[in-house]
Formats: sequence, structure tokens, C-alpha cells
Amino acid sequence: MPFILHGGDVCQPTIPTPIPNPHWVAFSERAAQLLGLSINNSGLPSDPQWLDVLAGNSLKANDIEFIDPISTAYSGHQFGVWAGQLGDGRAILLGDMQGLELQLKGAGKTHYSRMGDGRAVLRSSIREFLCSEAMDALGIPTSRALSIVGSKQAVRRETVETAAVCARIAPSFIRVGHFEHYASLQDTVRLKELADLLIDHFYPECLESSDPYLQLFICIASKNATLVAQWQSVGFCHGVLNTDNISVLGLTIDYGPFGFLDQFEIDHVCNHSDHSGRYAYHRQPQVMHWNMACLASAMLPLIELTHPAEESQELLRAALEDFPKIYAQKWQHLFRRKLGLTQELPDDIALIERLLQAMNQSKVDFTNFFRSLAQVNQRSDLIDIKQRDHFIDREQIDQWFSEYLARLEIENIADPVRSQAMNDINPKFILRNHLAQTAIEKAQQDDFTEIATLLKILSYPYDEQSEHESYANAPPLDLQKMAVSCSS
Ligand code: AMP
Ligand code: MG
Ligand code: MG
Repeated sequence: MPFILHGGDVCQPTIPTPIPNPHWVAFSERAAQLLGLSINNSGLPSDPQWLDVLAGNSLKANDIEFIDPISTAYSGHQFGVWAGQLGDGRAILLGDMQGLELQLKGAGKTHYSRMGDGRAVLRSSIREFLCSEAMDALGIPTSRALSIVGSKQAVRRETVETAAVCARIAPSFIRVGHFEHYASLQDTVRLKELADLLIDHFYPECLESSDPYLQLFICIASKNATLVAQWQSVGFCHGVLNTDNISVLGLTIDYGPFGFLDQFEIDHVCNHSDHSGRYAYHRQPQVMHWNMACLASAMLPLIELTHPAEESQELLRAALEDFPKIYAQKWQHLFRRKLGLTQELPDDIALIERLLQAMNQSKVDFTNFFRSLAQVNQRSDLIDIKQRDHFIDREQIDQWFSEYLARLEIENIADPVRSQAMNDINPKFILRNHLAQTAIEKAQQDDFTEIATLLKILSYPYDEQSEHESYANAPPLDLQKMAVSCSS
């Protein structure tokens, strides 16, 4: 959606700052298809001018010119504390193509850069690029990544690194923080404009409600409740669930120090700077609920347009109370499917929870264990020894397996059918930190082949791809506890 909220206090015309000698680091053909870009035999844009456009060095390719790139203001709560105005400090919205926004991350300073340099390093750009495309292939709503363009330009972080520009795509990059920004300015006119814009473009069903703005809140909260359930189901930790990083379309956005669980540790913290564990794996649902409470309070003035103050609060409070219910429903649905269960029986949730407890106790690899469950043979009383060996308390897991086999009997589905269904929801390949790290280290030596290899493998996460078996392996012990720094 073209961001039509022009005006000095909420967005600013922003021209990207060129980088010297830009070169391709990575390109996603699947993402390019979304924009209708024509691609040559090397899997790059047929029109070479796109390299300069996606580097931030030019605004014009053969058949398109971006005439009014902008950066936008938003505010937000960071780690639970009101942070005031933030904004696109290093993201520039070039414009829209085929109804999608094309944004350059790391293309230089904007009006909202504060003390920052407006740049992104190669390392973090590779992580964002690969994870965006991997999440989409997993079937989880996300912004997409089109390309990474690199340069020798130096960027200072903990050490000196090189700059890269990642091109991202989404129907819209509007965040909870945009609502909070206008609410904090007590600018109800802008707030209403923003809500109307969202309803028009993305939530037209709200117009059927007698309370369109309340309905808009309900829709956004429901999308984000569903999103977190999906994250939990693949062991994804976002790492920085501040309100300025929460999409009002329910997309995963702003990939930073994220991480997929290797070993299942319910309280795993992937962000090195998250000392209190606010954004730990098991806290993500609560934190998203909290973020939706921030959105509710930002949207309060819109509800008050048609309801008395107290009633408005009550309406939003009631809507907010549905969040845990929607989350639980989706979570239960997904985890039943992960176990190959199609019927909904009341004891299922306890069965799932007992498994997760046992996995947590034994620090079992989350992805590989769920993937291996598809191989359980219903007719055999013997539990596959490989799966059993992952657990410290053998008696406990034997007990669990016998309950699981009894539950599968009720399903009465043939093994091959169940197994296929389970492989369609339990991925074999995820972007493990150590895989990203290998690709990063090679790229830092100007070898970009591993990024392309990972992109290919992660585009089909549910396929066996036996030729790439090693990419499904849990990391070696010394790489298991990697937490990632926020500085990117
Ligand atoms: P993040 O934690 O990446 O979501 O960033 C929080 C805020 O800091 C956002 O408003 C970013 O735009 C801004 N920011 C992060 N890194 C930089 C940078 N290198 N230069 C300018 N702004 C930045
Ligand atoms: Mg952000
Ligand atoms: Mg940990």
C-alpha cells in the first residue's frame, strides 16, 4: 500500500544514501515474482539497473521510477517501557509495486535515525533475508526479502564490519507503533486516517460492523494471536517484541536477534541483550497480549468517537480478553496436527503438555523430535529406539509413548497417511543459528554460495531433501547456546 499519510510530522521524503561499488549478495526469485520483476538466467533481474536501485544508489530502473521515497515516524514501548518517538531510522520506503511496499533497510540516514548511522551490516542483513524467506516457506505470515546488496563501505558496530542493504517487501509495514505515535500526539484526526486506511486496504470486513474501529482492533489482535501460535509451533523466538516491531497485519517483521530453538528449552532467550528474559520463548504469547493492550489503549480515542469513555474502555477490555482464547485455540490446533491428531479430544492438551515437559527436561531437539514422530509405527509395541534415546527419563517417555499409541488408535488413520500429514506440519529444515553463521562467515570472505544454498533448502522446509541431510542436523554442542547480539 502506498503510505499516503504524507505530512511533516508523520513522514518525511527520504532519498537513500549511495554505497560505493555495490554488488549482489543474495536475491530471492520467489520474492521477485511477487513484484513481477523479470529475471535472467543467472536468477537476477534482467534489467541491470535494479542493482543500483536495490543498493539505494538510484531511484530508476528501465520500467519504474520511485518518485517519492519516504521514511515514517512511529513510537513504541521497548522492553515494556515507553520509548517515545522512534521511526524508520534505517528503512526507506521506495514506493509500491503490484500493491506491495518495497523498503530498503540500511540505505542510510533518515529524519528518524537519531544517533544511528542508518546502516545495516552484512551479517544481520543475511539473517533477515534468509529468515524472511524461510518463514514464508514455512507458511508463517512475514515480510519478504527480495535482495541483499553489499559494499565494502565500513560500518562500526562492536567491531568494524561492512554495509549491506536488504530490500524487504510487505503489503504494508505499518506497526502498532504508528498507532501509538498518533495517540501520544493526541492527534485523533491522524489516528482515524490511519485506521480508515487500514480498513480500506486490508480489513474491509470491518465496515460491516456497527463498530468498525473496535472490529479493526479485534482483527489485528486475532491475527497476532494466530501468528504467535505459529511461531511457537516451529520454535521461533523473535527476540525483540517491542510494540514498534509488531505489524498491524499480523506479519513477522523486523528480524534482529531472532532464533529457532535447537534443544527445546521452554524459557530460551535468543536475544543476548534481553537480560530479564522478557522475550523468552514461553513468554511470547503473554508479551504479544501485552502489546495488543498497548494497541487497545492507542485506539481508545477511536472507540470514544461513538461511545462514552467508560463504555469504550470496557469494549476494548472485553476484546482484549479474547486474545488468550484465540491463541490457545490456534496453538492447540497446531500441536494436535504436529502429533498427527485430527480429532479433538479433551485429554489431548495434557498429552501435548506432558510431551513438552519431557522434551524440556531432556533438552530434546525440537524440530528433529517432532519430525521423527511421523515415523512412529502404530503396530509395533516397541518404541523407535532412536527417539527414546533422546530422553533422560526413559520410563517417563515410554509411558508417554504408550499413551500416544493408544491415542493414535482412536484416530484410526493408516501410518503412511498420518506420516504424510505430519511431515506437512513438522518441518525438517529451519534456519538454525549455526547454519546462518556458516553462511555469514563465508559471505564475509566474499563467498555468497552458502546463502543461495540455504535459501534453496529453506524454501522447501517440509520436503525430505535427503541430499541435504546434514542441514537438518542439530548443531554441534559448542554452537548450541548461541545468543545473538542486538547490534546489527
Ligand atoms: P530495532 O530494535 O532494530 O527494531 O530498532 C529500534 C529503532 O532503532 C528503530 O526505530 C530503528 O529504525 C532504529 N535503528 C536501529 N538501528 C539503527 C541504525 N543503525 N541507524 C538508525 N536507526 C537505527
Ligand atoms: Mg524495529
Ligand atoms: Mg537458553
